[in-house]
Amino acid sequence: MIPNGFPDLPDFPPGEVWLAGAGPGDPRLLTVLAVHALRLADDIVHDALVDRRVLDLRRAGAELISAGKRGGRPSPHQRDINEVLIERARAGHRVLRLKGGDPFVFGRGWDEAWALTEAGIRFRIIPGLTAGLAGLALAGIPATSRDTNHAVVLAAGHRAADGDADAGAAADWAALARLGQPIVLYMPMAQLGGIAQALQDAGLPADTPAALIQSAATEQERVVESRLGALVQDAAREGIGSPSIVVIGAIVALRRRLLDAMIGWR
Ligand code: SAH
Repeated sequence: MIPNGFPDLPDFPPGEVWLAGAGPGDPRLLTVLAVHALRLADDIVHDALVDRRVLDLRRAGAELISAGKRGGRPSPHQRDINEVLIERARAGHRVLRLKGGDPFVFGRGWDEAWALTEAGIRFRIIPGLTAGLAGLALAGIPATSRDTNHAVVLAAGHRAADGDADAGAAADWAALARLGQPIVLYMPMAQLGGIAQALQDAGLPADTPAALIQSAATEQERVVESRLGALVQDAAREGIGSPSIVVIGAIVALRRRLLDAMIGWR
């Protein structure tokens, strides 16, 4: 499958942790390095967001360890996940820490990399396609176009994926609205009404194009076009739940013009 002349892939020595992104869903969107890691790992510590079809690519005998975190549900503490990674690595296992999307985009990847650093455990970072960009592309929404925007904002709608008290400050929605650039919201659903209102209060018109993209790159993928002022009603009417991203901005209106000729990812 890997073409001739492809660069050598690294060894995965026992005792290392590879912190990899699994992309948004479809295994064909994995990186070659992530597939390589799946074939070699002894232990795979994965999030709830990682697609089953991706996990099925692991080698026979590899142990799957769920570190699922989903807003609202009981979930392991970040400290406990760090502990598992450290213990398994110290036991001489090849540990693959597999996260949805990209490990360093709203995925607590930095926290884990820092915990490993403090523990003196060698690790490697393998980027993945982040949902906020790949999900847009798969839906036919360009993250940038020369006519509409020179920047794009990736923002967390929820203060934290797991509600940790130390999750950091909430976004300054008024400041983001004033940028006049498209905003891509991760974890948007819990606070969607408040965010949409705050953006409008700061001057974004209620008829700003917007879209909800649920379960990008999976069989359940759904794209609902909306407007900033109608997002909450449209999400409720269409039954949009998690995981979804919301994108707000002129780029959403460009999608319509591609739909006749664009072939879906399936
Ligand atoms: N590290 C991940 C993001 C983790 S935060 C990444 O880079 O993509 C979890 C949020 O990511 C979800 O609430 C949702 O907003 C988004 N997300 C992840 N996978 C998704 C998918 N397949 N479709 C839509 N949104 C997704």
